[in-house]
Amino acid sequence: MLLKAAIAEESMARFVSQPPLRRLRDMPKVVVIGGGLAGIAAALAIADEAESNEVILLEARSRLGGRVSSVKDPKSGIELDNCQHSCFRVYERFFQLIARAGGHANIKLQSRTNLPFMQVGSGKTAVLKDGRLAPPNHMSASLLNFPFLSLKDKIAMRKVVKELATMSEQEMADIDNLDFRSWLIERGQTERSINRFWGFFVLAALNTNIDEASASLSAFLFKRGLFNDPHAFDVGAFTSHLSDSIHPDLHEVLQEAGVDIRLSTTAKALLWKEGCTGVEISGEDLDCDAVVVALPHHLAARLLMKDGAPEEVLTVAELAARLEYRSLVGIHALHPKPVLPDDFTFSICVDEEVIQMLFNKNSELDAENLPIEDGQWISVPVSAADKYLEWKDEEFLAEYTRVVKGTFPETWNEPQTFKVIKTRKATFAATAGCAEFRVAQNVLAEHRIHLAGSWTDTGWPSTMEGAVRSGLLAAAGLMNIEWNPETDWKRWPRPPQRLDDEWKTW
Ligand SMILES: Cc1cc2nc3c(=O)[nH]c(=O)nc-3n(C[C@H](O)[C@H](O)[C@H](O)COP(=O)(O)OP(=O)(O)OC[C@H]3O[C@@H](n4cnc5c(N)ncnc54)[C@H](O)[C@@H]3O)c2cc1C
Repeated sequence: MLLKAAIAEESMARFVSQPPLRRLRDMPKVVVIGGGLAGIAAALAIADEAESNEVILLEARSRLGGRVSSVKDPKSGIELDNCQHSCFRVYERFFQLIARAGGHANIKLQSRTNLPFMQVGSGKTAVLKDGRLAPPNHMSASLLNFPFLSLKDKIAMRKVVKELATMSEQEMADIDNLDFRSWLIERGQTERSINRFWGFFVLAALNTNIDEASASLSAFLFKRGLFNDPHAFDVGAFTSHLSDSIHPDLHEVLQEAGVDIRLSTTAKALLWKEGCTGVEISGEDLDCDAVVVALPHHLAARLLMKDGAPEEVLTVAELAARLEYRSLVGIHALHPKPVLPDDFTFSICVDEEVIQMLFNKNSELDAENLPIEDGQWISVPVSAADKYLEWKDEEFLAEYTRVVKGTFPETWNEPQTFKVIKTRKATFAATAGCAEFRVAQNVLAEHRIHLAGSWTDTGWPSTMEGAVRSGLLAAAGLMNIEWNPETDWKRWPRPPQRLDDEWKTW
């Protein structure tokens, strides 16, 4: 109970980190476990701040980046992303990390928000974009012309848009136990707007179906993403495959900052003696003064759950173990000749359950990173894909063909390569009530443990931004720095603004 109270208090205060019990100068050696974005951000922030400290980063795989990764297709030799990874201008701490590593060229960002929609069969297309009105009405003009909703749907939406745009932190937190569909129905939203508007954004951003999605995280998505800042939802894409976009630059900057990076090194157990005193790796015990556990939640739970660990640590492990996962499927189709028009970047596919979106990789990748000469690479992310995990590739191909050939019959040609990548444990399930299992990063500080990872309590869904924020919050707690995550991490370059010519335009 005591820990529950402490966790609640920490969660309330998550926007201002709490002073830890020990100061950085007492902790010359820090081990960060996990080289995903959360662990990278934590290790780099600590090394940047305290040059005399020894920071060791342990990563089980041979490359940094964690879930932001690609795998080599043995047949074609092409590096395929585990799934399309999109970023948005509102990912400010993520962009700061990329900029700290000098990786500006690795990302292209829309210069204005532009969200295209298409419908198979009817041939109808539409774009939601920001116009002249102030938020939350900056998309109103394009929404008024949006052909996939009726006037009745749109009139009902107006009140809810206003309510979401003005919701306080506390009001959002209070509805975490509700699912977002019920919340919308209580407010008179039509089935059509739930399926074609609200539901699509929840599915794509939270990787969770609207029927079960936390109303709190859904409200956060609409407030922060769509109805608050007109720049927030400018969409970004990587200019190379994911591993190339993340690993080389971040590996180099971590090394320059003095971090001892140990790739292909798995943390097997934590060592305990009046708090955590080290980490066991194969054949060696690494003594240290503090540990940052930056792992996905099921692995964090496994590492923390050990006989002899303090009760609070075991309680956190139990909470983490109760958080569920949702899956994602990434489809890659390489066509010998272009199918999509040249100016097609991506599109949302209205009413499609499997082929929810199409991305034209030719428009994202830098020319030298495009592994096909004349053809076109189309990628499809399938969100909340748990029910498709048993599908065969042929079933995905049939759906893909129906949608793409059905929409572009004149340019259709069969893909020469068609690959499906399934990630069962892709993101934590952003379901109603999930906030209870997400703990604050510094709640175990007195045991010399700090937690990072997109599953920890950042207020964000499982995203690249959430991962970087969690790492910075853990680092801030460990170093006794007061930091509000809504503000820049001071030692790193500022995030991109519209018209910044340092960043590429998509
Ligand atoms: C298919 C897919 C698509 C996604 N799409 C998007 C998207 O479009 N936009 C977006 O913002 N987010 C997206 N996400 C979510 C985003 O990738 C994650 O939220 C984020 O990368 C998680 O970072 P992390 O550092 O918390 O965890 P991870 O990336 O999982 O990092 C943990 C690291 O720990 C390592 N590790 C595990 N066990 C050990 C051990 N014992 N010792 C040492 N190291 C260990 C792992 O190898 C891994 O590198 C997607 C995720 C997936 C899987």
